[in-house]
Amino acid sequence: MKTTALLALLAALASLSPLVSAQTAMPREVNEERIAAAFADARAALAEHLKVEVDAKFAPRLVSSKDVAARVAEENLPIFRLRQPDAELAKAEAEQAGAAFGQSALAKYTWTTRELLVSAKTWRRQAVQLGRPELTSDETLRAVLVHELVHALDDARHDIGKLLGGMTTVDACLGFTGVLEGHAQLVARRVCELRGWSKGFETLTANIGGLPAGAEAMDPSQLEVLRAQGAINAAPYVAGERFMAAVEARGAEFVARAFQSPPDNPDLLYHPDWYLDPKTRPQPKFALDAAIDVFAAPRSQDEWQVLRMTPPEAQLESSLLRLPPERAREALRGRVASRTIVLQPRADLNSKLLSAVVHEFADEAALGRFVAAGTELSALRDDDMRKAERVVRLKELTTRSIDAAAHKGRIDRRSLANGTFEFVATLALLARGPVYIELVFSNEAIEDDALLALADRMFDAAKPAITTR
Ligand SMILES: [Zn+2]
Repeated sequence: MKTTALLALLAALASLSPLVSAQTAMPREVNEERIAAAFADARAALAEHLKVEVDAKFAPRLVSSKDVAARVAEENLPIFRLRQPDAELAKAEAEQAGAAFGQSALAKYTWTTRELLVSAKTWRRQAVQLGRPELTSDETLRAVLVHELVHALDDARHDIGKLLGGMTTVDACLGFTGVLEGHAQLVARRVCELRGWSKGFETLTANIGGLPAGAEAMDPSQLEVLRAQGAINAAPYVAGERFMAAVEARGAEFVARAFQSPPDNPDLLYHPDWYLDPKTRPQPKFALDAAIDVFAAPRSQDEWQVLRMTPPEAQLESSLLRLPPERAREALRGRVASRTIVLQPRADLNSKLLSAVVHEFADEAALGRFVAAGTELSALRDDDMRKAERVVRLKELTTRSIDAAAHKGRIDRRSLANGTFEFVATLALLARGPVYIELVFSNEAIEDDALLALADRMFDAAKPAITTR
């Protein structure tokens, strides 16, 4: 999902505010005085329950959403450089992400300047636009400040900037984000419970990746996009908190270890046992990275921007949101590992998209469940996109089923229209043994034979390192 499209969607939702005004409770003013009182209470709570002194220098500074945006862009630049080798483009992408964050962020602890920023205007505006007056309650103000102050304490102890600066992969950054947000959530939940601010903590948590008021009235495909984005945004908080709770249960020294040597891969956030006892982690039998390297090989990195990563479980889960939760869980059971690669032309990032996802399943039965769920979902989505009023409309779909010795599956070709812009998206879904490959060529022509040959080279490259006899 392109950030710009999401922002457009959110802007459209802002016009739903008349629905919101029907609610009885009104958002309260968030001002210097209320923030100062909340800080004093949050500080006292941390002193009493954690026996830690929060330095007075962390007193919140009221700033504009633009200030928050600039700071977030600056502190995330190293992460964007990992996925975007072009320095200028990396800066532009970090600024875009900073702006998106600034639009909705209520408060932000920043580890570059070690201060706590509060965006009072955004706070009230969010409460109005989202139809959540409770965001401006006394308890919520306190819960948010406790969460942010836990970041400040963790920074003083572990030096967040230095740890992030040493990370060399997107996967490692995602793993570390889970530790950071998960720990802040875990501690804030506990402190708020002891202080009687649990309602505030729940409001803060629901606001992360939550849907705006009136969203239920949206059409299913838009709602799906919004829910998926929300689930991905919330993952470091939700999965991260479960992860840190499991780590803490082993002992305080394990919490410190989670900061000093965090999970190098977001999959570990969902499997703290794999992190704590690496021997329990199932070893992939297939070389999935070798397969995605084959996909990228013909494209020059001067012309194509390449992103390689482990798709976070939240992303896979969120892609299945339209199925009953039971079925979605079933579909992902038995997945051993996944890798993904996305290529976009540097000259015009949005003009084309080539991607590959390679999954390894424990066995062919698990793969079969995943494929069945995917087939059901794409039928739902195609039905949606056939409707005349859709932004992206499906004009024609041809499907060819493939049943060869080397691979089984299908090739879909969809003619799509986005306003007056028409393009073809080709999708190949192929299985060999317990390995499943999904290839997407959006607005880039490729013949069936070339597509199947590419998939075979990928399967060959992924073949087990150790052959079982
Ligand atoms: Zn946080």
